[in-house]
Amino acid sequence: MKRIITALLLTLLFLSALLGTLAAGPNGALSIQLYSWAQGTYTPAEADAVLLTLNGEPLEGDVPAMILGDRTLAPVRLVGEALAAEVLWVQETGQVLVRKGGSEIVLTADDSTALVDGAAQELPGGVPAQVVQYEGVDRVMIPLRFVTETLGASVDWDQKTYTARLTADLEPPPEPEAWVTDVRADAGAQTVDLTVSPMTDYRITDLGDRVAVDLLGAALESGFPGQSIVAGEQLAGVRYAQHGPELYDGYDYTVRVVLDLQPGTSYQENVQVEVRSDGLRLTVRPSEGQTGFVFVPPRRPETFLVAIDPGHGGSYSGAHYEGVSEKEIDLAVSLKLEALLESLGYQVVMTRSTDVAMELDERADLANAAGADLFVSIHSNAADGWPDYQGIFTYYHPSSSLGAILAQAVQTPLCQITGGIDRGIQSADFVVLRETDMCAVLVEMGFMSNSQELNRLLDGAYQDKLAQGIAQGIIRYLNALA
Ligand SMILES: [Zn+2]
Repeated sequence: MKRIITALLLTLLFLSALLGTLAAGPNGALSIQLYSWAQGTYTPAEADAVLLTLNGEPLEGDVPAMILGDRTLAPVRLVGEALAAEVLWVQETGQVLVRKGGSEIVLTADDSTALVDGAAQELPGGVPAQVVQYEGVDRVMIPLRFVTETLGASVDWDQKTYTARLTADLEPPPEPEAWVTDVRADAGAQTVDLTVSPMTDYRITDLGDRVAVDLLGAALESGFPGQSIVAGEQLAGVRYAQHGPELYDGYDYTVRVVLDLQPGTSYQENVQVEVRSDGLRLTVRPSEGQTGFVFVPPRRPETFLVAIDPGHGGSYSGAHYEGVSEKEIDLAVSLKLEALLESLGYQVVMTRSTDVAMELDERADLANAAGADLFVSIHSNAADGWPDYQGIFTYYHPSSSLGAILAQAVQTPLCQITGGIDRGIQSADFVVLRETDMCAVLVEMGFMSNSQELNRLLDGAYQDKLAQGIAQGIIRYLNALA
């Protein structure tokens, strides 16, 4: 008898344990498939169904909201569009963009970090956005409360009926008086064109190291804030963002465009504003009587780590002309550049400081491991059988638009200060440019195959100018990030 009772008790225990796992909420359990973005595989799972209402009306889609891992997840498109947000799914990166009224949330599949207006935020409970398949339909599911509250709505949870009640003010927003359709800086970082339709009132505020241009009543047509680094002699970068009624009385919208000026440049002296029928043109000019090389001082240099990569080394000599190996010139200029950047306050890491051999991928690995903000490889050129050819090139990787900006930022002052022939910037699939994680350029300082240029490359005073020119490009670029 005792044995029978024990067996019965065990069976009951087992059954209750089984029931416990199967116990579903009042709306039943859903058999779903969880999609792993990293592995591309589905895993079966069970979830409790959740009912949604918005302002008292049922909110239903082909995949219901559900409880997964203690959190309520809901289809992003269903909830986002019901709350008058725009929802964009980016298949390639597994990201979903939710934007409303100039504000933007970016969620990444299987990632518990969200970006809200560009700032990283950990999702509550570490529950990420997930792709869920239900009855053969795939939907991107998002943490309901986080997204709802970020979009300015509220959620009430009814435990008895497993219902999430959303409340939102869905008054249509007022129409902007004008649209900003384009903000564009030219390649030479001299003019910034703001295209506004129709042209509206504007205010300009001189903020010292930057200029704010406010377009009153205007909204960004793209809906997105943006920025571009231009790394010019006077202009470091351009940023723009949407603002609401908080900036100016009587205006529901304002687009604020900020021009970040290089140190030594001012609105009063260097910026000219021209009103056009289709917007504004801001022209940034050098100061009166200023031509050629200009030294722009660094901004917050101590916050940046620069990787300097002297070409070749050890048994890899590089080009060899008139008894000189390329590796010697590359190292000499690199050491001068290191000393100069350090004297200006930058942190520097060298891939080599002595005459040692290094593989190309080792150089990139070293800079990546150090977490450098910028990488510059220093080389000297040669053109066999073409002894008359001289000049300076700066290379960037074809996949890097910032690389092109850094290359131009280096090339311009380098040619100005040395008087070397400007052969322009070029893209190239070099290992050190491709395998580096940071913005990277490779400078070819001159042609060893030309006797005159080789003599200059060997001259200490000329090497100082090379280092100053390259440093100046680095400064102009990093100032845009400071
Ligand atoms: Zn080389």
